[in-house]
Parts: sequence; C-alpha cells; structure tokens
Amino acid sequence: MKKRFTFQCWNCEKTYTLFREITKEQKISVACPYCNTEAVVDLDPFRKEKKVVSLVRGDGDDEQSLGVELELPEIIPTQKPE
Ligand SMILES: [Zn+2]
Repeated sequence: MKKRFTFQCWNCEKTYTLFREITKEQKISVACPYCNTEAVVDLDPFRKEKKVVSLVRGDGDDEQSLGVELELPEIIPTQKPE
C-alpha cells in the first residue's frame, strides 16, 4: 500500500513528501528533491510489534496472527547513507 510520507533531508533539512510503499524492509532509501541527496530512513525505531490473539474458538479461526505496525512521526527523519 502506497502512502504519502513527509521526510526531512539530513543534508539541507528541508522537508518533502513522497509516495512510498512501506514494506517489511527495515530501511528505505529516498532522494531529496531539493539538493538531490540520497538518504536512508531507518524504520526500525517506529516498528511496533502487534500481537493479535483471537479469542473466538470453535469456528476454526482461533489462530494467532502476528503483525507489525509502523507508528511513524509526521515528519520522518532521514540519515546519511553509509
Ligand atoms: Zn536536501
């Protein structure tokens, strides 16, 4: 699912929005449209593990499902690529 995210450039400190698909990757790479600098976003600190246990039993749908939710700030900081 693609969503619009706001990133802050680590280099020029301007903010920009990009449509990105956030998957299970821990890091995504972006490029600042102002200074054209590559940046990486570490999503790991924003990852919240979510455990869903269905308490409904008897209908064959009582399996435990694990999911990961991202709780991202309004402006996502970026880092210099290593
Ligand atoms: Zn920039």
